[in-house]
Amino acid sequence: MAALALMEAGARVRLLGPGKPTTSRAHLGQCLPPAGLTWMRALGLESSFRALAPRRIVSHESVWGSPHVDTREMIASAHGPSWLLDRAKFDGMMRESVRASGAEAVEGRLVSVERTGSKWNYTFRTRAGHETGHASFLLDASGRNSIAARKLGAHRLRADRLISVPMVVRSELNTDLDDTTRLEANEDGWFFSCRISASERLISFYTDSDLLPASIDARKKKIEYLLGQSDHLSDRMEHHSYSALDPQSLVPAHGSLLDPLGGEGWLATGEAALCHDPLCGDGIIEAMNSARHAARALVSAANGDSNAFVEYKDQGRERFKNYQLTLRSYYALEMRWRNHAFWKRRS
Ligand SMILES: Cc1cc2nc3c(=O)[nH]c(=O)nc-3n(C[C@H](O)[C@H](O)[C@H](O)COP(=O)(O)OP(=O)(O)OC[C@H]3O[C@@H](n4cnc5c(N)ncnc54)[C@H](O)[C@@H]3O)c2cc1C
Repeated sequence: MAALALMEAGARVRLLGPGKPTTSRAHLGQCLPPAGLTWMRALGLESSFRALAPRRIVSHESVWGSPHVDTREMIASAHGPSWLLDRAKFDGMMRESVRASGAEAVEGRLVSVERTGSKWNYTFRTRAGHETGHASFLLDASGRNSIAARKLGAHRLRADRLISVPMVVRSELNTDLDDTTRLEANEDGWFFSCRISASERLISFYTDSDLLPASIDARKKKIEYLLGQSDHLSDRMEHHSYSALDPQSLVPAHGSLLDPLGGEGWLATGEAALCHDPLCGDGIIEAMNSARHAARALVSAANGDSNAFVEYKDQGRERFKNYQLTLRSYYALEMRWRNHAFWKRRS
């Protein structure tokens, strides 16, 4: 997103990253909110996006704040449905559009970076070995590990200990055709579930890392117990004869803010700058928004605006504060377990 905006402003861009988008369990079941299509349209990427055949999510159910199911029909939203993404395909499409716009896309992983005078010198690892490159500005868009920023001494301020346990359950019946996403609170956190295919469903359990047993057996028992408390999800599992849960993978899902968000000649953007609790469901949009702001700040700085980076960093901190207020109001809607650690910490 930043690369597209920078090239539109006439900058020469080199995009450094893995040749093929890498996906992890964190990427399973990710949805682009309805406003995402408006972004794609604005970038001239609507047809490329639709060609990925993302599944339309027209209805979202939540059991949050009471035992009753609350259904939100997305079709009634001004922007239409949400979209269930295949992140590898989506990221690949974005990368291809950057390449097609004339950026140099280099396959490699950043190894080191240092500033000499007003230039950056960096080393990256490719299949063939190590290579070096030079640039006037550096934009870290490497996700929540903030690879470049950390090498420059920045660190992340963690807001909580949220962790996700993504579990894919399988059915041989091929009968699950329900494209409703479901969010369900429980005493120690919440579940998110959506169908991946007719035979696979994602069930993700979100809780705090210290509330999750270390042993896989104990973890499984705990999650099964919590799932058993949930009429809706356990019924669905039984109805389609889904396989047992396998809670082996853990994915960090906490909110955090990079400090600082930039320095002389560099900025961080997307999750490299700030991460949202996935409950907000707006991580990708927030990353695109932040990338657009970062591109603007780089262009202004290149044109001599000495305040551009300060403003970008101020806005980033402000956005994080607003996010924390919004998040608190979401969690405050659930009062049933207010004395349990997970909910007490968020009250
Ligand atoms: C469990 C979970 C569920 C989520 N669900 C949703 C959802 O439903 N909807 C939503 O909008 N958001 C969701 N999010 C948030 C979403 O994943 C992020 O907001 C989004 O991916 C941020 O995009 P990004 O480009 O900043 O970072 P990333 O998507 O992490 O991309 C970073 C890129 O940097 C590359 N990279 C990493 N290290 C290096 C290196 N050393 N050198 C070069 N390149 C490198 C990576 O390969 C990758 O291509 C979820 C997050 C989690 C953890």
